[in-house]
Amino acid sequence: MRAFLLSFLMLQALLPLCAQTRIVAHRGFWDCDGSAQNSLAALSHAQEAGFFGSELDILVTADGIAVVHHDNEIDGLQIEDTPYHKIKDIKIKNGETLPTLEEYLKQAQSGNPIKLILEIKPHRTLNHENCAVLIVTGLVEKYRMRKQVEYISFSLNVCREIKKADPKAKVSYLAGNLSPEDVKRAGLDGLDYHYTLFEQHPDWIARAHKLGLTVNAWTVNRAEDMRTLIKEGADYITTDKPLLLKDICESIKK
Ligand code: MG
Repeated sequence: MRAFLLSFLMLQALLPLCAQTRIVAHRGFWDCDGSAQNSLAALSHAQEAGFFGSELDILVTADGIAVVHHDNEIDGLQIEDTPYHKIKDIKIKNGETLPTLEEYLKQAQSGNPIKLILEIKPHRTLNHENCAVLIVTGLVEKYRMRKQVEYISFSLNVCREIKKADPKAKVSYLAGNLSPEDVKRAGLDGLDYHYTLFEQHPDWIARAHKLGLTVNAWTVNRAEDMRTLIKEGADYITTDKPLLLKDICESIKK
């Protein structure tokens, strides 16, 4: 009876927190048939599953086309140094051709509503990064999707340039080397850090919230880590296992 009461009280304590924790599918929902990381299918599966958000990685080609891909190179070609026509027909793992950001934005406008978490990758020079930011924010503006996207980057320069291009954009920093106070001073909106950093700095989530910053943790694939972060009040969890996280959130709500 005592054990039952204890678990009931623990669930009650988790309830309001879990309601706030949103599921972000890391590189889309790719852990299913016909999908692949950063593919259009991964976005479509994330929409069908009803997740809050779908994260994607963006690099810009030598001639200014924003493509969705994680690694700096594809088939041995550095994306930054290569014109789009030389890589546009390359197939990714599920047989799709390399998606562009424009295709991703169009797809996100149809089907179930979903937030796109746009990760602009660090580029080799500040000039490249600044151009990449203008191209990406320009496309978001073109498709009138400012409210449907949030931005993340490991590059503090990219984060600051996004804010210059669109002061109302929601921008979170990924690299994990800044305290919540430093992120606030940099004029950004959130921390999006590897989950182990919140273990090393147990007061960062509360400090971030006190400053009005949001907290996202990546890439959280184990149930026990998900439960801990939900309990600690993480606003978002980015995961390769979004169905597992969904089950945990639903079991807490019951
Ligand atoms: Mg990413």
